[in-house]
Amino acid sequence: RTKPGELDEQDMATAQTLADVATAYLLNAEARRTKSEFVATVSHELRTPMTCIAGFIELLQDGQGGALTPRQEMFVEAIVRNSARLTALADNLLLVTGLASNAARRGHSDVDLAAVVLAAGRDLDRVVVARGLELFLDVGGDPVVVHGDTAHLEAVVTNLLTNAIKFTEDGGWVRCTLRAVSGTARLSVSDNGLGIPEAEQGDLFTRFFRSSTAREHAIQGTGLGLTIVDSIVRSHGGDIAVTSKHLGGSTFSVCLPLAT
Ligand code: ADP
Repeated sequence: RTKPGELDEQDMATAQTLADVATAYLLNAEARRTKSEFVATVSHELRTPMTCIAGFIELLQDGQGGALTPRQEMFVEAIVRNSARLTALADNLLLVTGLASNAARRGHSDVDLAAVVLAAGRDLDRVVVARGLELFLDVGGDPVVVHGDTAHLEAVVTNLLTNAIKFTEDGGWVRCTLRAVSGTARLSVSDNGLGIPEAEQGDLFTRFFRSSTAREHAIQGTGLGLTIVDSIVRSHGGDIAVTSKHLGGSTFSVCLPLAT
């Protein structure tokens, strides 16, 4: 038997195993970091040409490349729709990696969610009108201030509103309500759209998940939005819940602690 403090063969074997596990873990962490950096770089690099494409599309739509025939207008519209999708995908990927690497902690400030909701509503106005939807925004009269990352909180509101619009048929309605109730900001986004089958509701916040309804109706998306919303809400100390009925509309409810 070895003296106290000395290692015997078994200790050495255990130490070796621990060292192996630690090395494997570190390699894994390194691989994860490299992957996040790679995705962040790619999504960032995608944004520059996308901005350029958007600029040229605008020139075409302004008639600066000459008058467009109805057929050409249809083609340009398809380019507009799809480049918007690519930009949204790049933004969402960037957010996912940013959240994964915990960059979210930087730059927290007091954010008025009421202003965020109203601005998001304005940004979506064109699509709401084009789709013949009714969008109700009820933010009460007072600011609803939480402490957090402005861009991330904007992403929460925009993703929830965009989904409600996307999964509601033309002529339907979307309602967004915001209130401060006993130390908590309560945001809810409801629609009378397609809803989510009950059996699938548990998977909603899983990366890349898309419901069978979304696939059947060929509604496009990446299945990243709600994953991002969920991580942002949780990283701000809040939580999110959903009630939905297949073909009977959905309500996403978010609670966030108010700034003190
Ligand atoms: P995406 O919208 O890009 O598919 P999300 O992560 O935002 O990805 O949403 C995941 C899935 O959840 C969607 O594909 C859809 O099936 C379902 N979903 C989200 N919001 C709604 C909603 N308001 N109504 C019906 N289904 C929804």
